[in-house]
Amino acid sequence: MTNTMRAAVVRQFNQPLVIEERAIPEPGPRDVLVRVIASGVCHTDLHAVQGDWPVKPTLPFVPGHEAVGYVAARGREVTDLKEGDPVGVPWLHDACGHCEHCGGGWETLCESQHNTGYNVDGGYAEYVVAPAAYVGRLPDRPDFVALAPILCAGVTTYKGLKETEAKPGEWVVISGVGGLGHVAIQYAKAMGLHVVAVDIAESRLALARELGADLALDASDPDVVRTVLRETGGGAHGVLVTAPSVPAFRQAIAFARRRGTISLVGLPPGEFPTPIFEVVLKRLTIRGSIVGTRNDLAEAMAFAADGKVRARTMTGSLERVNEALASLAAGEVDGRLVLSIGSPD
Ligand code: NAD
Ligand code: ZN
Ligand code: ZN
Repeated sequence: MTNTMRAAVVRQFNQPLVIEERAIPEPGPRDVLVRVIASGVCHTDLHAVQGDWPVKPTLPFVPGHEAVGYVAARGREVTDLKEGDPVGVPWLHDACGHCEHCGGGWETLCESQHNTGYNVDGGYAEYVVAPAAYVGRLPDRPDFVALAPILCAGVTTYKGLKETEAKPGEWVVISGVGGLGHVAIQYAKAMGLHVVAVDIAESRLALARELGADLALDASDPDVVRTVLRETGGGAHGVLVTAPSVPAFRQAIAFARRRGTISLVGLPPGEFPTPIFEVVLKRLTIRGSIVGTRNDLAEAMAFAADGKVRARTMTGSLERVNEALASLAAGEVDGRLVLSIGSPD
């Protein structure tokens, strides 16, 4: 093993990433060093590169929080992972482990957490370091490209669907059929839910139908709310908003059934109008949902290992990461774009 690696680095917001030759990071006593095989490109990475969220990433940084590969080295205190184990590095890089939220099984809410590819270097690189206690475990003989998106898109939408509290046989609307939404449809079907998929791109609606959505509707159709209310018999029990678009948030409230729950996952910067009468009189619950815990990730991974959920992927190379990000920004990606970085053998 040489002691340098290639990494795609954000030096300034809204500028092309720079491919740099860097020293391979050293794992600390409780860390593993992961040799990256594949790394998914999440829309969050676009927000990070653009620096458009209220709390900005620390420059310079390596984006990417859907990195999967093999453990290449481990710190001396790591006992539950060994070289050659297939793992993935999620958004939740680490949390404090002892606060109210960590103790309550909600480590995703820890105020001392670090986030991969945001304030800790991430997976757009040949190697990435992460604490062993927070890396996701992959099944044996993994299809790395297909599993990379489970590390964020998978766990986030699986958790977000659970947070709608919709039960088998009930209806959910999934707004946004991109990297997140297209796996959300599959989780929802596997969870026994009826699915209305909503997007503004015709190719996404076609993908939604292929993946088992009971209905796929154009969000910009002036009749879309009426259609959802009619087809679901009064509105969806759960609404999962993955669209990085503010109008989708207002529309989600209109899709909801009385007593329904709207789970907000998309993160366009901004605010949306919340009609008080509609929320109060329909007794709606509007809640945010942020990625998922380690247990959520293990459960989300199990669906993929069982073949119940499989990400649709387009692959790109680390060298062409800027083109990959540009095509995601232009809305040209059906499914998830995954960077192929290392050889699996
Ligand atoms: P993506 O670009 O792959 O997909 C977005 C989809 O939304 C596209 O298919 C697009 O056509 C569709 N869309 C755009 N406007 C719409 C509208 N008005 N109505 C319906 N659909 C619309 O993005 P992604 O990787 O799936 O990420 C989506 C959002 O989720 C981003 O804001 C990202 O930062 C956020 N995110 C949040 C979490 C979390 O834990 N809360 C985790 C991951 C990503
Ligand atoms: Zn993500
Ligand atoms: Zn904590």
